[in-house]
Amino acid sequence: MLRIYGMARSEFDGRYETWRPRVLPEDLSRLEATVHEALARRDESLRTDFRIRRPDGEVREVEFVGAFTYGPDGTALRGIGVNRDNTDACRMIRALRESQARDRAIFEQAAVGIVDADLDGRWIRANRRLAVMLGYDSAADLAGTSWLDLTHPSDRATGCEQLAALRAGQVDYHTGDKRFLRKDGTAIWVSATVSLIRTPDTGEPSSLTSVIIDATDRKKSEAALLEAEERLRFAQEAAGAGLWNLDIATGLATCSEGYCHLYGLDPASGGHHTIEDWLAQVHPADRPRARAEVEASLAKGNYACEYRIVRTDGTIRWLAARGKTYLDEASRPVRFTGLAVDVTALREAELRLRTAIEGTGFATWERIVAEGTALWSTNHFPLFGYPTDPGGRASYEMWWNCICPEDRAKVQAAVASRQDSERFDVVYRIRRVSDGAERWMQTMGYAIDDDAEGHPRRMIGITLDVTDREVARIRLHDLQNELLHVSRLADAGVMASGLVHEVAQPLMAATMAMQAARLTAHRAAALLPKDLHEGFEEACGLVGDQLARAVEILEGLRAFIIPHGTTRSPEALRPLVDDACTVAMVGFGRSGTAVRNAVPEELPNVLANAVQIRQVLFNLLRNAIQAMAEQGTALVEPTVTVTADLQDAMVRVAVADNGPGLAPEVAAQLFEPFVTTKPEGMGIGLSLCRSIVESHGGSICAEANPGGGVVFRFTLPVAPCDEVPLPEQHEDGTDGSG
Ligand code: ADP
Repeated sequence: MLRIYGMARSEFDGRYETWRPRVLPEDLSRLEATVHEALARRDESLRTDFRIRRPDGEVREVEFVGAFTYGPDGTALRGIGVNRDNTDACRMIRALRESQARDRAIFEQAAVGIVDADLDGRWIRANRRLAVMLGYDSAADLAGTSWLDLTHPSDRATGCEQLAALRAGQVDYHTGDKRFLRKDGTAIWVSATVSLIRTPDTGEPSSLTSVIIDATDRKKSEAALLEAEERLRFAQEAAGAGLWNLDIATGLATCSEGYCHLYGLDPASGGHHTIEDWLAQVHPADRPRARAEVEASLAKGNYACEYRIVRTDGTIRWLAARGKTYLDEASRPVRFTGLAVDVTALREAELRLRTAIEGTGFATWERIVAEGTALWSTNHFPLFGYPTDPGGRASYEMWWNCICPEDRAKVQAAVASRQDSERFDVVYRIRRVSDGAERWMQTMGYAIDDDAEGHPRRMIGITLDVTDREVARIRLHDLQNELLHVSRLADAGVMASGLVHEVAQPLMAATMAMQAARLTAHRAAALLPKDLHEGFEEACGLVGDQLARAVEILEGLRAFIIPHGTTRSPEALRPLVDDACTVAMVGFGRSGTAVRNAVPEELPNVLANAVQIRQVLFNLLRNAIQAMAEQGTALVEPTVTVTADLQDAMVRVAVADNGPGLAPEVAAQLFEPFVTTKPEGMGIGLSLCRSIVESHGGSICAEANPGGGVVFRFTLPVAPCDEVPLPEQHEDGTDGSG
């Protein structure tokens, strides 16, 4: 007793008053009242409890069991009792009570469904959360239902097996996903853990308790993940892609099955295990570049590289790889992962296309508008005089800055106008960067990939150097103008010359007659009155003067018309013929007529006025072409051939056709003015030719071509410095002719 109360023997004198203050005041009055009531009832025994405080302050729980004896008059004589220290037991009970309350709270308020069931799976107690999960109003609605009743038919068989295993005590718990049926008949995916509860003393299975979690969202995201994975796998397979993942710390790689297929490796081998493994299969020529790219990517993050590999079967394929380096929180690279696809077919197609395009001589370009960058084919660079960039990298400025300022507005307008015609096409001049040369370019382009406002994001097209064509076009234009001018002058000249010819004769006759009249008058002077004779003399003198003046004017006109005063210079004949051919064909391009310039290159230069000789050639060619065109289709291959050779310090030119030949009525006076067989002809072309040729010191004639048609021949003097070269002197002093 003293131990319970924490007191020494000396501290307790056995008196009620000494014991009383030991009881906690809040328990004392209840305790005394209880004892008092028991004594009043003459109870023989009493059992109660109370708390005491030890001298050191510690509170203890004490149980009291006592017995009372009474005298014959009912007076209580004595009490005897036992105190038992129940502190530890009480604590346990209280803790138990608290834990039970907590359990209940957990059970009711849990975020998961909880259900207790008997060994047959009949539900004894379910919490609210489970009821809500299954679409019931309250947990009470679920009591008495069986575990299997609520299980989706497809999951019942497995459910039965699991229940049997638990009941037999073979397993202590089972966890897994299953479907329950909700009140409205729909299925719900849950994750359920069922535990077997055993009787504490015997260890016999007594009941089941399970925790059930709504797995709808998880199942959904799992399904989505699965689908995404499936799609990714499909995409990889469809693209023939191979994946790799390199753990940078260990330097070890894992590769997908598709990756192994790319390299011709057995998927069971796991592909390449290290970067060196991989490099060994990279084509030796591409190896240093591929290695450098990977090393750079470990530092900068993104990786993109195209390289050749040698497959295990010895074939060479092109791969395009894209990858990324992942960093940890301390920005250290941890993982290098990526994907490679076989682009051999693409490369080959590209190559074929490029060869085809380059074969046509077209230079291609692509412009990325927003970036101001451009991609040029290799043959696009030299067009503008830039060194070729192997990657084709160029810019919009590189093109624009070359365009001659006076053509820029035209180019800009053409590019802007493409909205109407889909395509723009413009011819413009540029200054070549390398040598400053002016060149003509033609650029055609399409806009592809327009933005929402219809502005192009990307444009593609071709450019070609059309300098030769443009220069020829301009020259043709100039020549035509020149010829028109010369022809007009010449036409007027020949007409005037014809008139001079026609008028000079009657003038001469009149002058002669005038002289005869004066002579007659002179002889008859004695017979005539003096004043009449003087008047006649005076009139004759006047008429004579006027006639002489008229002849003088005609002579002057002739000198003016026949162009022998024009400048001459050494001229190469062949280019003159080229020019004349070009202009003569204008309007006859589709007639099927062929014009051949067979003048030898090595012929010495002629001393001539180029404009006039071009005119002669033009007239002869034009006549021949017209004659053959009029003849229609009877002729198989209408051809005019210009040839030339050297004869006695003169160059002899021949213009031969295989047309109808000369009409007999014109043949005799072919070179006379106003002789023509054409309804709209003037008949002065050949006359002009003769004037020009003769003014050059040459001669012109026409003869029948043995094969049909006409040959016109004319001669021109060789230019002085181009005199006939001496026969080649051999070392033995002979000319080699023997
Ligand atoms: P035009 O062409 O105005 O008739 P030309 O003096 O150039 O004047 O020619 C005179 C005529 O000579 C022509 O009308 C034509 O009958 C004839 N002639 C010229 N060249 C040829 C030729 N190559 N073949 C046939 N006839 C020709």
